[in-house]
Amino acid sequence: MKVLVVEDELKIADYLYKGLTEQGCSVDLAHDGLDGQHLALEVDYDVIVLDQMLPGLDGLALLKSLRTAKDTPVIMLTARDRIEDRVKGLRAGADDYLVKPFSFMELLARLQALTRRGRKQEATELHVGDLVIDLLARKASRNDRRIDLTAKEFALLSVLARHQGQILSKTAIAEMVWDVNFDTNANVVEVAIKRLRAKIDAPFKTGLLHTVRGMGYVLEERPAP
Ligand code: CA
Repeated sequence: MKVLVVEDELKIADYLYKGLTEQGCSVDLAHDGLDGQHLALEVDYDVIVLDQMLPGLDGLALLKSLRTAKDTPVIMLTARDRIEDRVKGLRAGADDYLVKPFSFMELLARLQALTRRGRKQEATELHVGDLVIDLLARKASRNDRRIDLTAKEFALLSVLARHQGQILSKTAIAEMVWDVNFDTNANVVEVAIKRLRAKIDAPFKTGLLHTVRGMGYVLEERPAP
């Protein structure tokens, strides 16, 4: 899930960035309304988290200009003493709103509900050989045997499964799983792949996660040699 967070309060922006990245989202941050508007129009996000009070251009103005061009789902963040503004926000085209302070889990649930509504046709389950990845429940199994994965491992596996049969370079993986601002350290990817392989391949008869020397990694079912 590709998310834009437009929030000028650094503490909240940072908190959202960390939380969403942990959940396997790819997150872009904008700290003022103009920057946010630019990104919202230029890039196709699955959902936008938009603070209402912003320097440069406020959230409502940003939303109005966005709605003339795109219908990206938007969830607005409203301060408690500005609660009457939520009506304006919804009228301006917001899909949902949250009052600050909010819990991360609530925001996440709302984001998932919004993006589910937006793209019902997308598969919620991916299959690679006998490996099944349930994207909604965030579970993986092989031969009906549950595989316990950390949030990061699940994000990595989802990316590989979405591109099954394609070789992904370490840089591409780093960008998709650790975000574009990640200081690309190939070693981090290698270590993560090794851990993932130990869980999804080592206990089973056939390996699905293959190294393509000098190029990267590919997740696919290969015929037995
Ligand atoms: Ca603000």
